[in-house]
Amino acid sequence: MTIEIAIIGSGLIGTLLALGLLHRDSPHFHIQVYEQAACHRELGAGIGFTRAARHCMMRLDPRLDECLRRVATDNGEPEAPDYNMRFVDGYHTYVGGDEADEAEGNQPVGIEGKVYKLYAGPRGFEGCHRAQFLAEIMKLMPDGVVQFGKRLERYEYMTSGRIQLVFEDGTEREVDCVIGCDGIKSRVRELLFPEGDYRPRYAHQLAYRGLIPMERAMAHLGRHHRRRLLLQHMHCGPHAHVLHFPVAHQHLLNVVAFVPDPKDWDASAFTDPPSPNPTLTPKTHLLTHFQNWTPFVRTLLALLPTELTQWPIFDLYENPPPTYAIARVCLAGDAAHAASPHHGAGAGVGVEDALALVTALECAETAIARGKRATTTALEGALRAYSAVRYPRSQWVMRSSREVCRAYEWEMFEGEGEEAEEDTGMMARVMEEIRRRTMKVWECDVEEMIGEVQGLFWRGM
Ligand SMILES: Cc1cc2nc3c(=O)[nH]c(=O)nc-3n(C[C@H](O)[C@H](O)[C@H](O)COP(=O)(O)OP(=O)(O)OC[C@H]3O[C@@H](n4cnc5c(N)ncnc54)[C@H](O)[C@@H]3O)c2cc1C
Repeated sequence: MTIEIAIIGSGLIGTLLALGLLHRDSPHFHIQVYEQAACHRELGAGIGFTRAARHCMMRLDPRLDECLRRVATDNGEPEAPDYNMRFVDGYHTYVGGDEADEAEGNQPVGIEGKVYKLYAGPRGFEGCHRAQFLAEIMKLMPDGVVQFGKRLERYEYMTSGRIQLVFEDGTEREVDCVIGCDGIKSRVRELLFPEGDYRPRYAHQLAYRGLIPMERAMAHLGRHHRRRLLLQHMHCGPHAHVLHFPVAHQHLLNVVAFVPDPKDWDASAFTDPPSPNPTLTPKTHLLTHFQNWTPFVRTLLALLPTELTQWPIFDLYENPPPTYAIARVCLAGDAAHAASPHHGAGAGVGVEDALALVTALECAETAIARGKRATTTALEGALRAYSAVRYPRSQWVMRSSREVCRAYEWEMFEGEGEEAEEDTGMMARVMEEIRRRTMKVWECDVEEMIGEVQGLFWRGM
C-alpha cells in the first residue's frame, strides 16, 4: 500500500510539512514536493517563531528545532531571556522613567519612556534569517523529494479515485492527496473554490524592510541604546510603527517600518516568489512619515539604505476561504490564512498546520493499514479533521493580525477625546489590547491540538 502525497510549494511551510511527514519513516507514505521556482528564493529578511511554532517543530522532527537553534539569534533580556518582546512609545520623548512602572515589572529606561515587556516563553520569539533557516532545514531533505521548476496548473479527480496533477511544463502526476502550501497567491486555493473569489486584498499598508550591520547601528545609537539594539522592540505611535530585532547572531539588525497607504494596489503588484530585483523607493518618504518621532526611531531609519524595497501588505482578511479542505485537497500556511505580519506569527501558525496535518495523516495511515477504512475515506476524514481543528484559531490570528495594528498605531482608541499625538497615556491603554491579543497568539496548546485532531478523525466526525 502506498499513499502518494503531493505538497505544492516549497516555502517554509511546505518544506517543514514534508520533513515532518518524512520523519515518520512510514513504509506507506510517498511524499513529493513540487515547487514552481527553479531553486529556493527565501528572503534575506528576518523572521521570528512563536514558542508554539517551536513546540510544533520539535514534534515534527526534533532536528528542526536544532536547525533553528543554529541560526536563531537570542533577543531576550540577559537577566530574563524569556521576555523577548518589548513595546515602547516611539513617538513621545520622555525624560526619566517611572518608578511605578518598575513595580509593575515594566522597566523604566530613561530618556525614551516605559518599556512594556511580554513573556514569550523559553526561547519564545527568537529571530533568524529566513534564507539561512531554509538552507539549514533543506540539509535534512533527502534528494529527489523537492522537484523544482514544477508550477501546478490544475488538478482533476480521475475515475480511479486518484488525483491527476497537471504542471505548466505539460507534465502530469497521479497522487492520492494534495496539500497546497503555495502561499498567499495560492493556485490550489483558486482551484479548490472555482466559484468563489478568495484572492488576497491590499491591507492599505506599506512595509519597508532592511538589514543594518549591527556595528553601524551601535556606532550611531549604541552609546545610550546598546541594550535596545540587542533586544526585540516594537515602537508604537500615531499611524505607523517600527519593529527591530537582531539576526545573524547579532551581526545584523532587522528593521521593518509600517506606514499607511491610501492608494490601491492590485494583487498582481507583488510577485510570488519575491522578485530578485524589486523596485526600490527612495527612503525620503519613510523619513518624512517619521519626522516627529523619537530621536532613536529617526536615527535608526536614517541608517537604512537610501533606496528601500516597498512591500505592500496583502492578506485574506476581507475574503477568507470558507474551509481548508474539500475531499482530498487542502490548504496550509499562507495559502489558507495569509495574514498581515503584525503578530509576526503567519509562519508560526503555518507550522501548527503542518503538525496538525502530519497528525491527521498518521491517523489515516493507521486506519488504512488496519483495514478500518478505505484510502479515499481515510484521507478525506484526515483533511476534514485537520480543517475543523485549524480553521478557528488560524482565522482568528489572521483577523487579529490586522486588528492589533490599530493598537500599535494608536487608532483603536481614537475619538475618545485627546488626539493620539497629544495623548501621552495612549501607550498604557493600547498595551492592554496588545497584551491580550499577543498572548492568545503565543499560548497555543499544541498537545491539545494534536488530541483534537486525533479525536475528530477517530470519531469520524
Ligand atoms: C514583512 C513580513 C514579516 C513577517 N514576519 C514574520 C515573523 O516574524 N514570524 C512569522 O511567523 N511570520 C512572519 N511573516 C509571515 C510569513 O512570512 C509567512 O506566513 C510564511 O513565509 C508563509 O510561508 P508559506 O510556506 O505558507 O508560503 P510561501 O513562503 O509564500 O511559499 C509558497 C511557495 O509555493 C510556491 N508556489 C506558489 N505557487 C505555486 C504553484 N502553482 N506550483 C508550485 N509552487 C508554487 C512559491 O514559489 C513558494 O516557494 C511575515 C510576513 C511579512 C510579509
